[in-house]
Amino acid sequence: MPTMAESEGKDVIDLLKEEYPDVSGTALNYEKPMDLLVATILSAQTTDEQVNKVTPDLFEKYPSVEAYAEADLEKLQEAVNSVNFYRNKAKYIKKSAQRIVEEHDGKVPDRMEDMVELHGVSRKTANVVLSEAYNVHEGVVVDTHVMRLAQRLSLTEHEKREKIERDLMERYPRERWYEVSNMLIAHGRRICHARNPECERCVVRQRCPYYAELQEQGE
Ligand code: SF4
Repeated sequence: MPTMAESEGKDVIDLLKEEYPDVSGTALNYEKPMDLLVATILSAQTTDEQVNKVTPDLFEKYPSVEAYAEADLEKLQEAVNSVNFYRNKAKYIKKSAQRIVEEHDGKVPDRMEDMVELHGVSRKTANVVLSEAYNVHEGVVVDTHVMRLAQRLSLTEHEKREKIERDLMERYPRERWYEVSNMLIAHGRRICHARNPECERCVVRQRCPYYAELQEQGE
């Protein structure tokens, strides 16, 4: 763990990069952009581990965009029924696939404005697919970990996802957006938990206003 002197002047993302040199990208398993779109839609309010349990069979049953577009909805719902909100998620997947077939020649789009037109696809989902599958960085993925850490580390003063994303995009250059979300997600999963963050093990605690506040309160 770096000392206070060593960490001084370093950006929190740089410090996290030193801590997590091997972390890059999503924990969702996929091969094709459509796989990733499906997995990301399924991952809302569900763990990546849970999604990764479902997707091997799912990807085998539905090997193409067209297969999802033509899917029997009930069967598709059945195939994902161990995931939260599976009925709606299956609907989003089928409708998105239909639109991709109709409007994009069956290819998952690689532009934000097209992605967010798909059913059930937020900017967060779009950012994951664009950055992972196409190496296109149009924003910062702001999931629940990124929201919490950006607030605790005072990288934003906002509560809303869109505003937090805007703050991170303004703070860091585009070429860093991908690693910013990856590092914050990694740290949120491992150390800076929503409840009981492990501040004493945290490499950025000397830079963390939330930690300073806890210290002042004598916790
Ligand atoms: S010091 Fe604590 S609250 Fe701050 S980033 Fe580290 S784990 Fe999170």
